[in-house]
Amino acid sequence: MHNEQSAMSRRRLLAAAGAVPLAAAASRALAQQAEGQPMPGNAQLPEPAGEKMRWAIVGLGSFAIGQVIPGFGDARQSRMTAFVSGNPEKARTLGERYGVTRLYSYDNFDRIASDEEIDCVYIVLPVGLHAEYTIRALKAGKHVLCEKPMASTVAECEAMIAAAGEANRQLGVAYRVHFEPANMEALRRIQAGEIGTMRHVQCDHGFSANPEFPPHAWRLTKTLGGGGSMYDIGVYGLNTSLMMLDEAPVEVSAVYSTPAGDPRFTEVEGGIDWRLRMPSGISVQGSSSYCYSPYASRQRYFGSTASIIMDPATTYYDNSLVMEGGGPRREIGTGNAIAQFGAQLDGFSEAARTNSPHRTPGEMGLRDMRIIAAMYESADNDGTAVRL
Ligand code: NDP
Repeated sequence: MHNEQSAMSRRRLLAAAGAVPLAAAASRALAQQAEGQPMPGNAQLPEPAGEKMRWAIVGLGSFAIGQVIPGFGDARQSRMTAFVSGNPEKARTLGERYGVTRLYSYDNFDRIASDEEIDCVYIVLPVGLHAEYTIRALKAGKHVLCEKPMASTVAECEAMIAAAGEANRQLGVAYRVHFEPANMEALRRIQAGEIGTMRHVQCDHGFSANPEFPPHAWRLTKTLGGGGSMYDIGVYGLNTSLMMLDEAPVEVSAVYSTPAGDPRFTEVEGGIDWRLRMPSGISVQGSSSYCYSPYASRQRYFGSTASIIMDPATTYYDNSLVMEGGGPRREIGTGNAIAQFGAQLDGFSEAARTNSPHRTPGEMGLRDMRIIAAMYESADNDGTAVRL
């Protein structure tokens, strides 16, 4: 009996002894499931909410609603806190949808000065209003990103830059192509010498303006449009071409291509064909029109060993990059064009937050406006070249 009991005790003891390591292993396994892991390599960390720059959008029109506002969905350093509009009902509707509670009108706009929830202001108004609202926002102590073209005249651009200097705030022009993946890739290839030496640039941009469509109607007036197609779609050809080159033009010539008798063009030109002469001897040749159909947005860079064709080149959603020469014709895949909107916002937010240079500063807008003014001067004088 004694022996039986001691044999059982021994078995229990052994079983119990065996159970201890089993339980320890089980709890170790559980602990391992809950163990922290190192930060993944190349982690893309969003900015903490409090560190995002806070933006007011001025002018809730087709571009603001269609592209600018959705662009905040992709932004990591930027968020919307205010809308400025002449249509309170539209502002309220959009505010409810996007969680934007601070709503201003054009009349009480200057009150943004005491609104600490606004760091940056994005001007998305007709061109003729850019200078006034940019300067008011700068005087209110805010950083300003202004839509293209920067303003109606060189003098307005200069006044905007002076206001930014006085306010010690950033001023940028919303040249979104500088943040667009296909154009960034073209720039990288050109700078890496993949087309050899640049020999010529050709660009054509246009669409058919419809005076019955409100966003086109103001573009056909001198006071709100500033000028004609060159003040609108033509700016892409000019600014994008110069982005790809390492030099600034020394001479400009242009002729109007407005169709005779077209009733749409009583105040502004319907089209303009232009040429820039660069110090290296090459030329950039462009056309801009409110009379093209279908929509045209093309850039072509002719190099000494290869060329790059972009057609379309500067659209919101879908730009194409093709290389010809130096091998078979090849389409180069690039990122999604829509990323340009969030990237542009974040580029400006970062410059404003860190007080560092912005990729498309007011000075670039002024440079382009000086060239555009020279184009009009040349076209007004039957294409006589204007030295810059
Ligand atoms: P819209 O006509 O669609 O919108 C302009 C908005 O400005 C209006 O909805 C209105 O907003 C406000 N506004 C204030 N005063 C006036 C006025 N007197 N007449 C008309 N509108 C007025 O134009 P877009 O959205 O097409 O263009 C706005 C700006 O964006 C322009 O500078 C344009 O060059 C630029 N743009 C840039 C593009 C790009 O790719 N970067 C593409 C398209 C445009 P509210 O009702 O809220 O007051």
